[in-house]
Amino acid sequence: MLYNNEDTIAAIATPPGDGGIGIVRVSGPEASFVVDKIFQADKKKPLKSHQMYHGWLKDPAQNRLLDKANLCFMKAPRSYTGEDILEIFCHGGRAVLERVLEAVLSCKVRLAEKGEFSKRAFLNGKLDLTQAEAVLDLVKAETKKSAGFALMQLEGKLSQKVNKIRNELIGLISEIEVAIDFEEEVKGINVLKVKDKIDNEIKIIDEMLKTSEAGKIFRNGLATVIIGKPNVGKSSLMNALLDEERVIVTSMPGTTRDAIEEVVNINGMPLKIIDTAGIREPKDEAERVGVERAKKEAGAAEFFLVVIDSSNKVDDLDRQVLREVEGKKAVVVLNKKDLGNYNGEDGYASVANGHPAFPISAKYKDGIRELKDCIYTYVEGQASSGKEGQALVNMRHKECLMKAREALYKASMSCSEGLSPDFIAIDLKDAVVALGEVTGEIVSDEIINTVFEQFCVGK
Ligand code: GDP
Repeated sequence: MLYNNEDTIAAIATPPGDGGIGIVRVSGPEASFVVDKIFQADKKKPLKSHQMYHGWLKDPAQNRLLDKANLCFMKAPRSYTGEDILEIFCHGGRAVLERVLEAVLSCKVRLAEKGEFSKRAFLNGKLDLTQAEAVLDLVKAETKKSAGFALMQLEGKLSQKVNKIRNELIGLISEIEVAIDFEEEVKGINVLKVKDKIDNEIKIIDEMLKTSEAGKIFRNGLATVIIGKPNVGKSSLMNALLDEERVIVTSMPGTTRDAIEEVVNINGMPLKIIDTAGIREPKDEAERVGVERAKKEAGAAEFFLVVIDSSNKVDDLDRQVLREVEGKKAVVVLNKKDLGNYNGEDGYASVANGHPAFPISAKYKDGIRELKDCIYTYVEGQASSGKEGQALVNMRHKECLMKAREALYKASMSCSEGLSPDFIAIDLKDAVVALGEVTGEIVSDEIINTVFEQFCVGK
């Protein structure tokens, strides 16, 4: 998609569904012209920036009233995109919002593409690339903890860290280049010292790379499947895990959540539980597609909750299920503890095969809190995850950081091997470029497009 800041763009910025308020957002040079065309303020006064106005929205073509609304105009560059922005707060129904949008689009305005508002914010220097990505993470965050990590990135914590390494490398390159250019006057470079500095940067990058696993979990949720033979209490466990959140969060119509998955909040860590109950003999084509998808998603699961009915003897079917998770991340749930523990907790240790095992009663919701703690500690330990105060890298950052690391490693080797400083400088420059890709300082259109295509229209 070509960027043309002559264009004025608009989109509905709130999610579909019957909201009390819905927002239509407009960005570009025609934004104030739109106000003139479609808005009749209660009190006629000149349009000022960053002030709220109340009045009627009307369709300019037919001069028909559309809705009563509030409206705010934000003059460039003091706006999200850095351009003139108009936000119209009208009633949230689909039909109202669509009519308002149509009226806006009749004023030399075109429909925004996916993520185009945030893309403009990036291209106008309002956000760097990691911050734009943080906007998406924040909007998509399923738990407060995930939102906290996104906020940290939006604040610029990740970019600051990357920029610090980058600036230090740029300093090092200029030191080396001065030494090369003025070989006669300058005593040359202290290769050992240069190598030390490079190795230190590699260490910092390694620390950042370690957060990528946690980054994946807190951004996308940990893909989880509850397995166990029939009637051990899988559905009951799912309900018990979901129970607490249902009280606060009711699922909203129009949200994009897939029917085959539910997100469970494990002390702030989102577990995306794929509903394997949906995996049965399909009755029709629609069901077949659903079952295929559920199977595929279950196959890609990264974490397993293995449910065993602990009031009964562990049998071959249980063992077969446990064999499926050998060498994988799993917690064994010893359910129905209210009925008495057939094997005694110790008896399950050998069956659990090294996985943590935890007794609960899903039916009476006994031990659910503790099970959540157990899952959290286990997953966190496996992912060396989510330390407070540290921004988490995503897959794109990881790729760039790995490229930078590779270049730095080469530079470090060149130091050890006593190669010419030119070689060292070339590799350091490669590392600088790779780091610049993280923040978007140096970045191709292709990368920009890939990042913003993940957004939806209106962001
Ligand atoms: P699934 O087939 O594995 O999904 O098992 P369900 O969750 O449907 O449970 C099967 C039966 O076990 C139901 O009658 C549940 O009420 C019962 N059940 C589930 N968990 C417990 C529990 O902790 N204690 C007792 N006593 N019964 C349970």
